[in-house]
Amino acid sequence: MSYKNFPMVPRVIFGRGSFNQLNEILAPKRLSISAPFIYLIDDVFKNNTELTSRISLYYDDEIVFISTNEEPKTTQVDELVEKIILNTKARPSGIIGIGGGSILDLAKAVSIMLTNEGEAKDYQGWDLVKNPAIYHVGIPTISGTGAEVSRTTVLTGPEKKLGINSDFTPFDQVILDSELTKDVPKDQWFYTGMDCYIHCIESLNGSYLNSFSQSYGEKSLELCKEIFLDNSANISDVEAQEKLMMASWHGGMSIAYSQVGVAHAMSYGLSYLLGTKHGIGNCIVFDHLEEFYPEGVALFKEMKMKHNIILPQNVCAQLSNEEFDIMIDVALSLEPLWENAIGKNWKKTITREKLKALYQKM
Ligand code: NAD
Ligand code: ZN
Repeated sequence: MSYKNFPMVPRVIFGRGSFNQLNEILAPKRLSISAPFIYLIDDVFKNNTELTSRISLYYDDEIVFISTNEEPKTTQVDELVEKIILNTKARPSGIIGIGGGSILDLAKAVSIMLTNEGEAKDYQGWDLVKNPAIYHVGIPTISGTGAEVSRTTVLTGPEKKLGINSDFTPFDQVILDSELTKDVPKDQWFYTGMDCYIHCIESLNGSYLNSFSQSYGEKSLELCKEIFLDNSANISDVEAQEKLMMASWHGGMSIAYSQVGVAHAMSYGLSYLLGTKHGIGNCIVFDHLEEFYPEGVALFKEMKMKHNIILPQNVCAQLSNEEFDIMIDVALSLEPLWENAIGKNWKKTITREKLKALYQKM
């Protein structure tokens, strides 16, 4: 048996207001006056001077605001990389991603593609990246995906939605400042928070589970229950925001050494065909997975009720057989997820008909 030797984020700051230390963290990392820092920032912060005024731009440093209406695409990464190469005198000193999972993934992918030839789609998969990425920093502004800590950057490519999983993907530095999450809209808080909850349920109920993953998964699940079920917790509590930030971190660590499962496999299908975003897509799917995760789904329904969340219904009602086939192909291609969820013989029970019947309920 050969065990995987995973890299982890080597530096992390945690604390309310720690974003103020960004400039001093970056200063020693500047390679030269012609090698700028490029900030990729969710455009929800475009007119938010409370955030942008705290970023000191020197020499050719640049802020690029990015819309997150759609999840990151390989072509979007290629375009950003091309622009950066054309507009900078030297290879940047670093890429700083400020936003949710979408922006964090873009920042990781851009930093990889600045030092690796070809197109981002060529690197979707496992361990295809050859050269170390440039220095990259992740600053989450919404909690749940675990993208701040994970070894992957999930991208939609021409043929598949799949991550660039590599030892060079994790951030060199993460700043966990819960204050940045204070204005997240309630529905989105729930959807992205549930991504974390579902990571825990899928990891803890999977056949790949081991003590490493279990220890992180259990802690994350405990925090999720405190945040989403305790009557005393509230979205605007500083403590709840800090707890969700750490739940996200632990949830991400838990799946690093295991895998996600049925909800993620099927939600990737929805996302690929319909563009359904990850957080809400996971919720739509998970709501119908009682047979796989009975306790996890029961608790999910309780949380949904407590926070008055109404999920979209009948999202697959108008789909043609060909469209169902596309979603089923995407879902079935994620073999490790099924093996983790069901076991080595998953192909005996997870048939195309089975998946179609499940999608028809959503
Ligand atoms: P997101 O990044 O798309 O953000 C969701 C919404 O919240 C956006 O409208 C954004 O503008 C808004 N938002 C973010 N911070 C805000 C703030 N502080 N105030 C107000 N609004 C704010 O969503 P997400 O759920 O964080 O991330 C989803 C993405 O993460 C997907 O692309 C998914 O594939 C990816 N993902 C990656 C990993 C990984 O390990 N790399 C894991 C899970 C999910
Ligand atoms: Zn997820």
